[in-house]
Amino acid sequence: MLINHRSETNSGKAKRLEQAEWYRHENFFPVVIERDIWEKVQQKLKAQARPANGNKAKHRYAGLILCKECGSPFVPMIRYWNGKRRVEYVCKGYHRNGKSYCSSHRVHEEVLDAAVQEFAQTMRVKMAEKQKELKQKQKMWALRKPVLDAHILLLQEKVLKFEQEIDEIVMEKLRI
Ligand SMILES: [Zn+2]
Repeated sequence: MLINHRSETNSGKAKRLEQAEWYRHENFFPVVIERDIWEKVQQKLKAQARPANGNKAKHRYAGLILCKECGSPFVPMIRYWNGKRRVEYVCKGYHRNGKSYCSSHRVHEEVLDAAVQEFAQTMRVKMAEKQKELKQKQKMWALRKPVLDAHILLLQEKVLKFEQEIDEIVMEKLRI
């Protein structure tokens, strides 16, 4: 076991700490002894994690688009063209098996970015329109509310009058 944080330095003055404040590291030494193994494991984990993580970070549409013709996912490929680096997504079916399997479907990442932007913009406009429509409806019904309330009141009065009439008729019949 390793124990540290037995004392603290506060503005140049060292202060001894209570046992409860010490930091205890159980199993600290066995870990140190097997450090070379630990490092090998870490290296292995890093090597395993790199392709997946790297792919996701670099290629934002990886695993998101499918080929309409053959249903294969589109795989990202890096192309250098006119000294510019471009990411292109290619049908995996075509890429793996050639023309006999599927056509050479490909799309540039910028094209997808533009499509996503456009879709987001269209949705924003649509949502703003819907909101405006709802506000107008709300306003219209708010304006009509007093009229409708008055109508309800009038009908309630009528109901009351009819009930009184019914009562009178019943009483008259009982009298006979
Ligand atoms: Zn395809």
